[in-house]
Amino acid sequence: MKKEKVDVAIIGAGPSGTVSASYLQQQGIEVKVIEKSKFPRYSIGESLIPRCMDNFEEAGLLDCLKAQNYQVKTGARFIKDGLVSDFDFSKKFGEGWDWTWQVPRDHFDHTLAQECIRKGVKIEFESQVTDVSFTEENATLTIENKQQEVYELEAKYVIDSSGFARVLARILDLEAAPRIPQHSSIFTQVKDLRRPDGSEGEAITFDIIEQEVWFWYIPFSNGNTSIGFVATTEWFDQFKGTTTEQFTQMLSFTEKYYPQFKELPFLFEPIQVKNIAKNVTKLYGNRFVLTGNSAEFLDPVFSSGVSFATESGLLAAKLIIKELAEKEVDWQKAYVDHMQEGVKVFSTYVKEWYNGNLQKIIMHQEHNLEIKEQVCAVLAGYVWNQENPFVKKHDRLVKNIAHLIDMENNQKNNKT
Ligand SMILES: Cc1cc2nc3c(=O)[nH]c(=O)nc-3n(C[C@H](O)[C@H](O)[C@H](O)COP(=O)(O)OP(=O)(O)OC[C@H]3O[C@@H](n4cnc5c(N)ncnc54)[C@H](O)[C@@H]3O)c2cc1C
Repeated sequence: MKKEKVDVAIIGAGPSGTVSASYLQQQGIEVKVIEKSKFPRYSIGESLIPRCMDNFEEAGLLDCLKAQNYQVKTGARFIKDGLVSDFDFSKKFGEGWDWTWQVPRDHFDHTLAQECIRKGVKIEFESQVTDVSFTEENATLTIENKQQEVYELEAKYVIDSSGFARVLARILDLEAAPRIPQHSSIFTQVKDLRRPDGSEGEAITFDIIEQEVWFWYIPFSNGNTSIGFVATTEWFDQFKGTTTEQFTQMLSFTEKYYPQFKELPFLFEPIQVKNIAKNVTKLYGNRFVLTGNSAEFLDPVFSSGVSFATESGLLAAKLIIKELAEKEVDWQKAYVDHMQEGVKVFSTYVKEWYNGNLQKIIMHQEHNLEIKEQVCAVLAGYVWNQENPFVKKHDRLVKNIAHLIDMENNQKNNKT
C-alpha cells in the first residue's frame, strides 16, 4: 500500500480545519488536509459572531474573507409577541470585534480552503479518512481517495475537524451524553424577493414562536436568505410529509415572516437534523486532538459553532507547534480547560434560553444599559472575559436578573 508522511494530518476542511492548517503552514509546519467533499459544498452555520474574527485574523485568513463582501452583521435582533429587541455589538462590554458576517457557507468555506491552498497547504478533496491507528510516536490514517485507491498517511499528530461526521469519536468510541437538552432543526434557503429595505432586511433575526420554538432569518449579500426552525423533537413530530411540506406548514407559525416567504420556492429541499447536541468523553489523547464540531456542539441559538470551531482549531495548532518544538504541553490545562471555560458559559445561556429566563432578559424593554452591554459581549462570543459579570457569574446572574424582571412585572401588574 502507498504510504505518505506529513507532520500534521487534518481531517476536514471546514472553518476549524482550515484555521488549523493555515496557522500551522504559516509557522512552517508541513500539513495535509483530507476532505471528503468536493468544494464548494453546502454547510449549515451561516451566522458568525465577532469572536471568530480574532481567530481568522491570527490564522491569516481574514483578508481573503474581507474581499468577498459578505453581509456585515453588527448585532442580533429578537422578536417575540410583536416586541423587538436589538443588540448592537458596538455597545458591548469590554474589548473585541463589534462586527462579523452572515455567510453562505459553501462560498465561505471554499474561500477559506482556496486561501489555504494559495499559501501552500495541501488539501486533498473527495478523499475520506476511513480509519486511524496510533503508536507512541505516530498516527496512521487510512484514506480512500477519489479514484477509490486506499493509502496510508503517517503523521506526528492528527487534528480531527470532521464536524458532525465525528470521525475519531466514532473510531475511538468517544461519544458522550450532551450537556444540554436536545433540540432538532430544519432549514433551507430562499431567493428573498420580498426582502425589506434597510436594516430590517439585513439583520439576523430570531423570531421566538414559543419558549422552545424559534425561527431564524439570516439574509446574505447575494440576495438569498437562510431560514430555519429550531424546536424540541416532539414539536417537529406533529408535521407530516416531505421536508418541503413540513417546512411550508411550519412557516405559518411565524406571523412576522409568513408574508415574506409564503409561496417562494425553496432553493433546496429543507434539511432536517434531529437531536443536534453532541459531546465526547475526551478532547485529546496521544497524537490526536478533536476540534470544532467533531468535539462538541451545543445548539444553534447563539451562533457560536464557527467561533468554537476556529477557537479550538487555532489553539490545537499552537499547542502542536509547541510539542513539535519539544516543549512540554499540559493539554488538559491549556486546551481542555480553556475550551470548557467558554463552553460552560454558552451552555448556561442555551439552558437559560430554553427555560425562558434569558428570553425574558433579552426581550425586557426597559433595559438597564450596563446589563445589556454585558449580555451583548456574551452574544458576541467574548466568553473568556472574566471581567464581565455575565461571564464570571454566568450560572447565577441570568437566573437572578430574570427573577428581578419577574418581580418588576408583578409589581406593575399589581398596580394596574
Ligand atoms: C441547525 C444548525 C444551525 C447552525 N447555525 C450556526 C450558526 O448560525 N452559526 C455558527 O457559527 N454555527 C452554526 N452551527 C454550527 C456549525 O454548523 C458548526 O459549528 C461549524 O460548521 C463547525 O465547523 P467545523 O469546521 O468543525 O466542521 P464542518 O464545517 O462541518 O467541516 C467538517 C468537514 O469535514 C469533512 N469530513 C467529514 N468526514 C470526513 C472524513 N471521513 N474524511 C475527510 N473529511 C471528512 C466534511 O466534508 C466537512 O467539510 C449550526 C449547526 C446546526 C446543526
